[in-house]
Amino acid sequence: MGDASCVICQKHRREGPLVGPLIYQDALNSVAHRAAGSLGYVFVETQRHVPSLYQLTDAEAEAVGRTTARLARGLYSELEVEHVHSMVAGLGVAHFHQHVFVRHAGTPSGYQWWEQWPAAPRGDIERLAYRLGGYL
Ligand SMILES: [Zn+2]
Repeated sequence: MGDASCVICQKHRREGPLVGPLIYQDALNSVAHRAAGSLGYVFVETQRHVPSLYQLTDAEAEAVGRTTARLARGLYSELEVEHVHSMVAGLGVAHFHQHVFVRHAGTPSGYQWWEQWPAAPRGDIERLAYRLGGYL
C-alpha cells in the first residue's frame, strides 16, 4: 500500500528513517511524534499517499482538522507552552504532512515562530506520545 519510495508511506508501515513514537491512527490519518529532539514536535499525515493539501478529500480534511485541534489541546495540556503552531510546507516529501509543534514557555523572543529553540525541553518522547494519545 502507498508509494514504495515514499518515506512517509514507509513510516506508516513502521519502516524507514522517519519512524517515531506513534500517537494515533485511523483509516484517514496518522499522528506520530518526531523521533528525537525537543518535546512537542508532531506530524499529522494522511494515510493515503497524496502530495498536497488541495488534493485532500473532504473526509481527509475533516479528519486532519479534528485530529490537529485535539492534538493541540493535548500539547497545551501536557507541556508548558506559549503557543501551539501548525504548518503545511510540503517542499521536502510529496506526501501530505502537517507539522504541529509547540513554542515552549521561556523561548527567547528572538526566535521566530517556525524556529526551534535549541534549549527547548527534552525528555521522554515515548511517554509524551502515549499521553497525547489520550486526547485523540
Ligand atoms: Zn507516501
